[in-house]
Amino acid sequence: MPPTLCSSLAMPVLDGRVVLESTLSCPHCGTTKLETMPTDACQFFYDCTGCSAVLRPNPGDCCVFCSFGTVPCPPIQASGSSRPCCGSESA
Ligand SMILES: [Zn+2]
Repeated sequence: MPPTLCSSLAMPVLDGRVVLESTLSCPHCGTTKLETMPTDACQFFYDCTGCSAVLRPNPGDCCVFCSFGTVPCPPIQASGSSRPCCGSESA
């Protein structure tokens, strides 16, 4: 199987098992904001509504929701593990 990209995943997001809302916590100012996660892509950047800092995922995480959210992103939930969902195995 080729590396699976988030944008190519057809996820059963409406079966009630995948949570699409995650509360992001800004590591800079502590602002929390409930955001709805996109299901067809990973959100790599997030502009903090509190301090305008641009959040980026921590090393090893695929998106800001995995790093700063209360719920991992839909692809991660769908895979049922913490595997990277964007083919970001890096090296
Ligand atoms: Zn902030």
